[in-house]
Amino acid sequence: MAMDVFGLLGNPVEHSLSPPMHEAAYDELGLEARYVTFEPAVDDLGAAIEGARTLGITGLNVTIPFKQDVLETDAVAVDEMATRIGAVNTIDFSGSEPTGHNTDASGALRALRMHDVTVEGATAVVVGAGGAGRAISFGLADAGATVEIANRTESTAHELADEVPNATGHGLEDGTLEALLSGADVLVNATSVGLEEDATPVPADALYDGLAVLDAVYRPLETRLLRDAAAAGATTVDGAWMLLYQGVEAFELWTGREPPVEAMNDALRSRL
Ligand code: NAP
Repeated sequence: MAMDVFGLLGNPVEHSLSPPMHEAAYDELGLEARYVTFEPAVDDLGAAIEGARTLGITGLNVTIPFKQDVLETDAVAVDEMATRIGAVNTIDFSGSEPTGHNTDASGALRALRMHDVTVEGATAVVVGAGGAGRAISFGLADAGATVEIANRTESTAHELADEVPNATGHGLEDGTLEALLSGADVLVNATSVGLEEDATPVPADALYDGLAVLDAVYRPLETRLLRDAAAAGATTVDGAWMLLYQGVEAFELWTGREPPVEAMNDALRSRL
């Protein structure tokens, strides 16, 4: 049987944690498979996807700067969720035609649920309306949450809220998050604030016991937001859980097999 090849399209991809996470799954299940990284030129995305198909690659993840660009190519049939989000992070070549999916949304939901966070009927505050904020907002809304989207560039929050069911857009001016959080069950940081810096987009005194806080940022694992949340008695969910479950969902799509979640999680966390 030929070896299965999976990979990641992005630029840069050298620090990606996807290769060790997926290869840990192959090792655990004894699969003959490899996960490799590719950095095509920006103008060559469509050709890269066509080439992957021609070569018999089984699945690709897609990351910055290509997630949105996949929708502009005619190399893949994009599913409804990824079309609504406007970004593809997983391409599946195992069927008759390549299909594009977004597992960031479902990955974030699974990260919350495995921490016993109820999303259905919840009020969720999503800070940030970029790629991660879009995926998470659609995921939360589809799962039955009311979504309050707050973004530094307020117009982007309103534009996203117009597309997401049961969502309202806000800016990030003083007092906004405090007011939104006073009636919330779930808080998500989908900004890059906290990434490799000790900063938080949310005032510490707006956090409380009973709130569940997911930070999409995973470098560092324990961000200032999550430290503040833990100190306030809130449930904390770090960004590695979201990263893990987007990978778990991609593995399921590509292989149809039960993913070895623990092995994938260990591989990821040992490198963070
Ligand atoms: P993006 O599309 O570039 O969006 C960045 C977001 O951060 C925008 O909403 C932006 O607001 C906001 N922002 C940036 N600097 C800010 C500041 N100083 N104050 C307030 N808001 C600020 O990036 P992305 O792809 O959504 O990624 C966002 C974060 O999520 C990154 O740290 C990324 O690593 C992480 N992420 C994690 C996962 C995971 O699996 N855990 C998956 C995807 C992304 P404006 O619109 O005003 O610029």
